[in-house]
Amino acid sequence: MREKHQDSPRDRTLDVTEIFASIQGEGPFMGRPASFVRLSGCVEPLCPWCDTKHAWGPGDAIPVNQVADTVRNLGNDLVVITGGEPFLQWASGLNHLEDQLLKKGLTVQYETSGKVLIPAEVKGVKVCSPKHLDGRWHYIQKNSNRADYFKFVVKDDFKGVEGFVKDQGLGANRVWIMPLGDHGEDQLALSPDIWAFCVKKRFNFSPRLHTLFFNNKQGV
Ligand code: SF4
Repeated sequence: MREKHQDSPRDRTLDVTEIFASIQGEGPFMGRPASFVRLSGCVEPLCPWCDTKHAWGPGDAIPVNQVADTVRNLGNDLVVITGGEPFLQWASGLNHLEDQLLKKGLTVQYETSGKVLIPAEVKGVKVCSPKHLDGRWHYIQKNSNRADYFKFVVKDDFKGVEGFVKDQGLGANRVWIMPLGDHGEDQLALSPDIWAFCVKKRFNFSPRLHTLFFNNKQGV
C-alpha cells in the first residue's frame, strides 16, 4: 500500500527554482516564446562562470501536477526545462511532468550539461551544453547518441570545441556556437570571430539574447 502511494504521479514533487514565461534566447529554438521551468540542483564540478547559481541549492518542492498547471496557464506551446541539471530529477518526478506536458500537445525542450546520463526514455528535445573545466570535458560520452543538439559557449577556445565535435562524431548541423559573456558588450566583442568560425566549420551561430539585452538579470 505504501509503495503504491509513493509511485503515484499525483504525489511526486519537483525541486523548482523558478517558472516563468519568456523567449528562448539561444540555440535551435532561439526566438520562440517559451515557458521556462528551472529545476534546482546541479552536478559538481560547478562552473565558475555559471549565470544560474541561484539554481544550485534547494528550491521549492512543488507537486508535479501544479508545475504542469502553471506551465499550461502561461500559454506557450514550447516548454524549456532547464536548471541546474534537470535530469537529476528524472526518476523522481520529471518523467511524469514530461508525460503531462506532451499529452497536452506542448513541445518540451531540455537544457542539460551532459554531466549526467540523459535517460534513454526521454521524449522531449535534448539540447546539451558540455562543460570544459580544469582542463577536461565533464561529459558522459553516451550522451552523444542521446542528445539531439549541442551548444557551446565560446570565448576563444575554437580548437577545444572542434576537438570535442570531432571526437564525438557530431555532424555540424547538430552544433550551435555562442559567444561567452554575461553582459551584452562582452558578447558583441566576441561575436565577429565566432561568426567567422561558424562560417568556416558550417556550425550554427547563436547569440544569447537574454544576456545580450538584459545582462545577467534573472527570470528573463
Ligand atoms: S552545468 Fe550549467 S547550471 Fe550547472 S554550474 Fe555549470 S553552467 Fe551552472
